[in-house]
Amino acid sequence: MVQFTEEQVRRLNELGVETALLEQEFQDNQSRNRFFQKKEQELVTIQHKRLDELYENERRPFILSLEEKIAAALRAEGFLQVHTPIIMTKKRLEKMGVFKGSIMEKQVFWIDERRCLRPMLAPNLYEYMIELGRLRPRPIRFFEIGPCFRRETQGQKHANEFTMLNLVEMGVPKELTLRDQLLKWGKTVLDTAGIKGWKLASEDSTVYGETDDFVDENGMELGSSAIGPHPLDVEWGVTDNWVGIGFGMERLTMSATNENNLAKAGRSLSYINGIRLHL
Ligand code: ATP
Ligand code: MG
Repeated sequence: MVQFTEEQVRRLNELGVETALLEQEFQDNQSRNRFFQKKEQELVTIQHKRLDELYENERRPFILSLEEKIAAALRAEGFLQVHTPIIMTKKRLEKMGVFKGSIMEKQVFWIDERRCLRPMLAPNLYEYMIELGRLRPRPIRFFEIGPCFRRETQGQKHANEFTMLNLVEMGVPKELTLRDQLLKWGKTVLDTAGIKGWKLASEDSTVYGETDDFVDENGMELGSSAIGPHPLDVEWGVTDNWVGIGFGMERLTMSATNENNLAKAGRSLSYINGIRLHL
């Protein structure tokens, strides 16, 4: 018995084949190749149809529609949308405990000695906690959605550039528990994305120590949460209690659209909305 060649598997994956089919076995190479050609044709036709549909309806990738929907849902809940710099100073990043030799430091894209592309939104949002904290009554809610960059040994669930959604609620009324607030805002985002079967589970983070992650029904991490008072707060001068969640927009897209490869959900020159362009 023979199976698909590596090249055939790659092509079928690009075209969005159902993964179970990749395990199929054949009597000989000839029958396998015949089956492959037929399947490839079928999948190419589907991709053409999907592209036509995209042109007739949404006219943009799911991830961009989702970003807009989530931003609207959070604003409706009283969250202010903020827009902060993508270039970050080393000094600011170091206040997150990302110092030379740390695991996270190896993931940072440095522009020069003093500046990097932000690997996370948290340092900028800490600034907003201080600034809005001086100006506004509690609870203070705000969020940002924007690009982040990390050196990753690329896999199915990581990219060097991705889009983070980070929300913060600070000065949570004493009668509310922080975990309930985390669940409430996490649910707001995940319901908006139409994701079912998710849960909040404990996980170890290099930056925050013990954190709770939002994971989907297949166990993929969608987002990580943090709560304060937190040891890092001292560095920034934050004294209120707070909850925060960082979701990956590409991960949300993968989970909502049943896609198993982040390359199809994120910024790409090979795919639009998961549709292969090289047909
Ligand atoms: P993972 O353990 O999956 O590598 P992480 O715990 O290092 O992720 P966090 O720092 O918690 O990531 O970032 C918050 C969210 O941003 C993650 O839950 C994930 O959805 C997303 N994310 C992080 N790194 C990447 C990446 N390289 N590509 C795509 N999304 C990412
Ligand atoms: Mg995490």
